[in-house]
Amino acid sequence: MIRGRLAACGIILAGAIVLPGATGVRAQEKLSPKWEELTAADFRLGLQQSKGTCLLPFGILEKHGPHLPLGTDLLNVRYASLQAVAVEYAILFPEYYFGQIFEAKHEPGTVAYSLELQLKLLQETTDEMARNGCKKIVIVNGHGGNEHLLPLFGQAQMDKPHDYVVYVLDGARSRPGGPAKKSTGIDYHAGENETANTMVSHPDLVHLDRAAGESGADQKRVNLPEDVYTGIWWYARFPNHYSGDGSVATKELGEWNMKNWIAAIVEAIRAAKADEQSLKIQNEFYEKSMHPLDTRP
Ligand SMILES: [Zn+2]
Repeated sequence: MIRGRLAACGIILAGAIVLPGATGVRAQEKLSPKWEELTAADFRLGLQQSKGTCLLPFGILEKHGPHLPLGTDLLNVRYASLQAVAVEYAILFPEYYFGQIFEAKHEPGTVAYSLELQLKLLQETTDEMARNGCKKIVIVNGHGGNEHLLPLFGQAQMDKPHDYVVYVLDGARSRPGGPAKKSTGIDYHAGENETANTMVSHPDLVHLDRAAGESGADQKRVNLPEDVYTGIWWYARFPNHYSGDGSVATKELGEWNMKNWIAAIVEAIRAAKADEQSLKIQNEFYEKSMHPLDTRP
C-alpha cells in the first residue's frame, strides 16, 4: 500500500511540483479502508469512494475450546472483512466486540456486557457512524451468540426515524461443497470449521495439539421439543463452551470457508451500495407511522 508515502514530500507529477495535501494527489493514493488509519480529509474521500457504505465487523471475547484464542470471532471477522474491502471498498469501523455472550460467563476471559449496554452502544455507534456520513452500515456478524441480537437491532431501527440503513450480514461459516469434512457431529463452536478458518486468518494463534484436550460433544442434557426455546440450552449441551472437534481441521477447509465468506461480504457491500430503495421506503414508513389513522391500504 502506498498510502502516506506521497504525502511525505512534494512529488513531481507531469513536470509540475505538486505540494503535499493537494486533493489531486490524495485522490490518486490508495486509501486505507480502516477508519482509524484515515486522516480527517481522507475520511471524506473514503466516504465518497465507498458511496457512504461502511462495515461494522462484529466479534466477541469468549472461550474457543481449549485451543483457539478468546478473540477468535473478532480476529476472523476482521480478517474476512479486510479481504472483502480490498475487493470492494468500504470504510471499516475499528474493533467491536460488545455483543451477546451470557452463555459463556462461566469461562475465563469472557466479556459479557449487559443487554441494555449492548443495544445502547450499538445504536450510538451506528448513529455516530451515520452522523459522519455512513448512511449504509453493513454489520458483518462474526459471532453465533449475536444471531438473535442483530435481527432485533435491525428491526428496532423502525422505532424512530433514522437517516441511514442498517444491513445485517450473518456469519457464513460453511457452505456446501469444498473439501470433505472429517468430523461428523455438530460443529457449532471452535470445531473443525472455526479452527480451519483461524488456521487461515491467524495460524500462529491456533494450538491444534490442544484441540482434543476437552470434549466438544453434544451432551444432550435437556430434552425438549425442537420448537421450545430455553436460554440454558447451549450450556446444557456444550458445557465446555466447545462444540465439535477442532483437532481434525485443515487449512484447505479454512481457505474454502474464508473464500466464500469474503465473497458474501463483497456481495453485501455491492448490494448496499446499489440499494436506492431501503432508505426511501424507511422514510415513507416513518412518515406514516406519525399518523397511523390516516394510513389506507
Ligand atoms: Zn467463534
